[in-house]
Amino acid sequence: CGVFGVIGVTDAANFVALGLHALQHRGQEAGGIVSHHPDEGFNSVRRFGYVRDNFTKQSLMETLPGPLAIGHVRYSTAGSKGAAIRDVQPFFGEFSMGGAAIAHNGNITNADALRRELIERGSIFQSSSDSECIIHLMARSLQRNIPERMEDALRRVEGAFSIVAMTRSELIGVRDALGVRPLVMGKIGDGYVLSSETCALDIIGADFVREIEPGEMVVISDEGVESSFPFRRKSSRFCIFEHVYFSRPDSIIGGRSVYETRRQIGVELAREAPVDADLVCPVPDSGTPAAIGFAHESGIPFGMGIIRNQYMGRTFIEPTEQIRNMGVRLKLNVNRALIRGKRVILVDDSVVRGTTSRKIKEMILDAGAAEVHFRIASPPTAWPCFYGVDTPQREKLLAATMSEDEMREHLNVDSLKFISLDGLYRAVGEAEGRSNSCPQYCDACFSGEYPVEPSDMIKKGFEL
Ligand code: 5GP
Ligand code: SF4
Ligand code: MG
Repeated sequence: CGVFGVIGVTDAANFVALGLHALQHRGQEAGGIVSHHPDEGFNSVRRFGYVRDNFTKQSLMETLPGPLAIGHVRYSTAGSKGAAIRDVQPFFGEFSMGGAAIAHNGNITNADALRRELIERGSIFQSSSDSECIIHLMARSLQRNIPERMEDALRRVEGAFSIVAMTRSELIGVRDALGVRPLVMGKIGDGYVLSSETCALDIIGADFVREIEPGEMVVISDEGVESSFPFRRKSSRFCIFEHVYFSRPDSIIGGRSVYETRRQIGVELAREAPVDADLVCPVPDSGTPAAIGFAHESGIPFGMGIIRNQYMGRTFIEPTEQIRNMGVRLKLNVNRALIRGKRVILVDDSVVRGTTSRKIKEMILDAGAAEVHFRIASPPTAWPCFYGVDTPQREKLLAATMSEDEMREHLNVDSLKFISLDGLYRAVGEAEGRSNSCPQYCDACFSGEYPVEPSDMIKKGFEL
């Protein structure tokens, strides 16, 4: 998901709509905005579909007045698939000291247990979302102001959260102690911005100030920015997959360009798994920067052998398997004239179920390619993510049930190589590779080492 908030500008909701549009890649199912105006109070709009199809109509944006607003773009991980509008964030709660709205990116790993406990004690849930627990925990807190109630609530929450929240007069940002999901702060005129990624600061012309640190809470008001660290400090475990796939390539994370990291992954891949061929070809768009790096390092020409229809979304964010299966053909087509007779290296960011890779290989062979070699810009995805990225159940992950050799056979390609975990760490700037005693990132979907125990899932029978 993507979260965004602005304080201290005229008609903040317009800025939030633009910010969410720039974060659309983080969630395409639905979006919502809550605003506050001193005379008109809180207002909210939640809609299915793209930001550009909903939050561009003047008549609708006029219903969201005020200098303070937050928003959320959603793709469902926890909770229901094929969502209901009541699952669309931001969530709103009315407390004795006034209202508050929250927008959450991440996933709460003890949400089932919390929900059960809260329901037994009288909470009335409106949605099936894990994030709603936070509002109910805040309602039960005895603290006298909303930021402190949020701290109380979040101390009970396990898992990953980057949250943008608001009261009548404050914009609040919080990250979990491991800082699994991103969150940055920007400045626009006299106002402030919180955003999942820097690419959304650029769209509104805000200047990047800094990242919210793991375990940090910032409360921004007329008086400025107040920072605190309410949670027990731990060493950071940022999601390495944000670098590989999830973030936009024009975003900056930890001072590093995501594009440059992806290009570097391609360089590492070419060193680790060279192969004689005529053409390096990305699976667009997610494989493109790595393919550029691979071509550069190997000296093999880069070419757009697959063309993407820009009017389709990301395949994996379409929630059902059936749509996903169709999706590949609707989204990607082969550039036959370029492919015919060539030995082709296909570079993609990841293999999850293997459906994309299989279809693409068939399309490439149909177009007359002489050989097909897959090079993948992440290690085999063998474990599900429980921290906010939608991977399928373990049984459906190709790498969970097959060795690399079996996967090559299953995909029926001439060769298949994944970047090593150390190679990936080098590409994100860790010259020594992965520290196995104290990994610098979350890489659980590749390593199976979960930095936060997924307790709900373990109760449901998931085995580590
Ligand atoms: P597959 O066809 O193997 O299930 O999906 C792989 C493709 O989906 C890749 O091209 C990649 O761009 C995209 N993808 C990336 N991350 C994820 C993820 O976390 N889950 C899913 N299902 N697909 C992803
Ligand atoms: Fe990111 Fe993978 Fe960790 Fe999920 S399990 S947070 S996708 S690195
Ligand atoms: Mg892709």
